[in-house]
Amino acid sequence: MTQPASPLDAALRRVAMVSLHTSPLDQPGTGDAGGMNVYVLELSRRLAARGVEVDVFTRATSSTSAPVVEVQDGIRVHHVSAGPYEGLTKHELPAQLCVFAREVLRAEAYHPVGYYDLVHSHYWLSGQVGALARDRWGVPLVHTMHTMAKVKNAALAEGDTPEPMARLIGEEQVVAAADMLVANTDDEASQLIDLYGADPGRVEVVHPGVDLDTFRGGDAVGARERLGLPAQGHVVTFVGRIQPLKAPDVMLRAVAVLLQRRPELRRSLTVAVVGGPSGSGLEQPDGLVRLAEQLGISDQVRFVKPVEQARLVDWYAASSVVCVPSYNESFGLVAVEAQSTGTPVVAAAVGGLPTAVRDEGSGLLVEGHQPEAYAAALERVLLEPGLRERLARGARTHAEQFGWDRTAERMLAVYRGAQEKMRADISGVAL
Ligand code: UDP
Repeated sequence: MTQPASPLDAALRRVAMVSLHTSPLDQPGTGDAGGMNVYVLELSRRLAARGVEVDVFTRATSSTSAPVVEVQDGIRVHHVSAGPYEGLTKHELPAQLCVFAREVLRAEAYHPVGYYDLVHSHYWLSGQVGALARDRWGVPLVHTMHTMAKVKNAALAEGDTPEPMARLIGEEQVVAAADMLVANTDDEASQLIDLYGADPGRVEVVHPGVDLDTFRGGDAVGARERLGLPAQGHVVTFVGRIQPLKAPDVMLRAVAVLLQRRPELRRSLTVAVVGGPSGSGLEQPDGLVRLAEQLGISDQVRFVKPVEQARLVDWYAASSVVCVPSYNESFGLVAVEAQSTGTPVVAAAVGGLPTAVRDEGSGLLVEGHQPEAYAAALERVLLEPGLRERLARGARTHAEQFGWDRTAERMLAVYRGAQEKMRADISGVAL
């Protein structure tokens, strides 16, 4: 068994991490698997390296997964049986909360009393389970929202479906129950307070991170060769789940505008879309392919199925610029990963992206979602003398502040703060 790293960690030996709707073992970039999966896995790795054992509880979605998978020393993923393996959408999962919670409590009951020192839940569904576990085990609940329905509904892409009332209510309940809420950015912290009535004393900002060793650039020529991309010319890339919220269509439209303005680029411009359908994007899995045809840019565009992070580095390194035109983004790991690899980003000035990207320093931020505005930003990065090189230099420097090690250090401080708050709350009641 892993020993506590220091006396300070003495009361923080084991964390129960709840990630109900998506497993950290899933390939990110399609369906429900994205930044949250990366977050849970990378944070768990850094916690384990600091002597804190992590048990991740996630809903089993395949009959072939073992009930418990040891990812590495100190990290186990528990596949909890709650509902059928396949066929349930995220919106149907609230009906499985009860049985999922029961199974989590049952798994804990095999251990000695006081086995877990803290629960950290991710996304509101997990928060509901976390709140129950917190009460049962008498340990603090730390919760990270990842996305919020009220924020999402206020910035819907055209034709996208609003989040249901059940989620809004469920989120409010989790906000009220958590001992500590972790926000990705100051902006998200304000939203928790202003829109959800969170107690400001229970909200802490911890930036997510990037694996600064994996996402390291340099070999653009080799990367292009490995990916079968032209050695010369421009590559504009989108990476992520393909759904209206992420606005990959805005990037394609922007490229079409750019090619109209600069027809000579047609010979030297490649567009890559890396990722698979997700959310309401599943209703039209070929929508982007058809859009590229309608825009007359099919010859320019390469669609690539989701790739593991080790391969994603090549896509970032091979790109002249990565485009993140999302309608909302609670942080935007893709933007930070691209910059860590030394690739500038053109991103929407929404949510966490103004934190993740330094405007005119590591990339360009664009207001709104007009394709013309993105076309202008892409044109600047690709053609303005010296700009791409300057932004590329700033990109790695900007990304360096977001390493996962720093995230884990900050999170440990939040965990300890939550434990202290709980102790204070208990003694306050006793007085
Ligand atoms: N990702 C990946 N392979 C892909 C596409 C995406 O591993 O083909 C990962 C990417 O590296 C990033 C995450 O998926 O870490 C997406 O996170 P982001 O915060 O950008 O968006 P989210 O999915 O949370 O909305």
